[in-house]
Amino acid sequence: MKDSFRTLDDVDVRSKRVLVRVDLNLPTENGRVTDATRLDRILPTIREIADKGGKVILLAHFGRPKVGPDEANSLKPIALVVTQHLGKPVAFASDCIGELAKAAIAKMRDGDVLLLENTRFHKGEEKNDPAFVDALAELGDIYVNDAFSAAHRAHASTEGLAHKLPGYAGRTMQAELEALGKALDNPVRPVMAVVGGAKISTKLELIGSLMKKVDILVIGGGMANTFLAAGGKAIGKSLCEKDLLDTARTILRDAAAGSCRIVLPVDATVAQEFKAHAASKVVDVDHVGQSDMILDIGPKTIDAVERLLTEVKTLVWNGPFGAFELQPFDKGTVEVARAAARLTKDGALLSVAGGGDTVAALNHASVGDAFTYISTAGGAFLEWLEGKTLPGVAALRAGST
Ligand code: AMP
Repeated sequence: MKDSFRTLDDVDVRSKRVLVRVDLNLPTENGRVTDATRLDRILPTIREIADKGGKVILLAHFGRPKVGPDEANSLKPIALVVTQHLGKPVAFASDCIGELAKAAIAKMRDGDVLLLENTRFHKGEEKNDPAFVDALAELGDIYVNDAFSAAHRAHASTEGLAHKLPGYAGRTMQAELEALGKALDNPVRPVMAVVGGAKISTKLELIGSLMKKVDILVIGGGMANTFLAAGGKAIGKSLCEKDLLDTARTILRDAAAGSCRIVLPVDATVAQEFKAHAASKVVDVDHVGQSDMILDIGPKTIDAVERLLTEVKTLVWNGPFGAFELQPFDKGTVEVARAAARLTKDGALLSVAGGGDTVAALNHASVGDAFTYISTAGGAFLEWLEGKTLPGVAALRAGST
């Protein structure tokens, strides 16, 4: 990824109608927002544009509405939450195109903030329909995309608009692209990747792509079991994808033939039951019993990974080392995460993590703020890690040349 995208440093937003694509797809329970991390991340962009006298017009999707508008997926309650977090009033328009949107925008003064209704209430959003893109483009003078997490989708508000209006990366998008660029595109070597989590089947592309880019690939979590089994080890009742044993062997062979060193656990914490506080013991991977379930890496593996961390300069991490939701099987993830956080704090390591359960696992280890960058982007982060082109990012770059 080249850094050839324009940012808020390159535009005078004063008195302009700025269409800002943000991620407000906040997790809710019974109508209440349970985690406002995504919202907090976009506040700097909103504040900066408003402070510079731009009219901030927020575009976002919410949920997966099936057939047009429905109350359950309305962004209206979210406008209030944005107001609370932003500390200034956020108006709301109950359509994202047409007369309602135009009337709300006409009322805006410089520095005002307006949230438009869920873009997915119109079919044209997900289809990237040119007529819908035009209807959105009519509402603004410039386009700012601050939703990296939606950039893996070529939708009207995430991709189409960048071809119609001058496009800029918002501060969150910018931070994400810069962090990711430093981690894999132009990393300081050696680079180590940690891939953990439950299954190989969901991470084959990820492993394939990382093997070409990193110097060391540490495999942990349930997926390591399949690799251990592929190497002829007995793994008892541990999670294993038997249909992928050949694939695992091929990966190990390819790595040995290439320049990526694959590191597998040498010991494990095993239990007879998959539950918190189940009786557990540590065994070498050559001594896993018939009724044992591998639920975490063991202390020798933790030490080995921590030693490797001191030898590398860059870390990319996706997926926990064990069943981290169940104590004591969170130990491997927590200890390695804390070691990475310490090295990052000392300036010895650039650490980037994200995708799936990784953010929850690192928060559990209390290192949520201690990595160089933790991406909350989920699917987009994983697609980037897999080496795919993200349409929303590609469109921003194309527009800036
Ligand atoms: P993923 O979403 O693929 O990153 O997988 C995360 C899940 O993998 C978490 O819910 C962990 O509990 C689970 N997991 C990690 N290690 C193991 C293991 N050894 N056995 C079973 N589940 C595991």
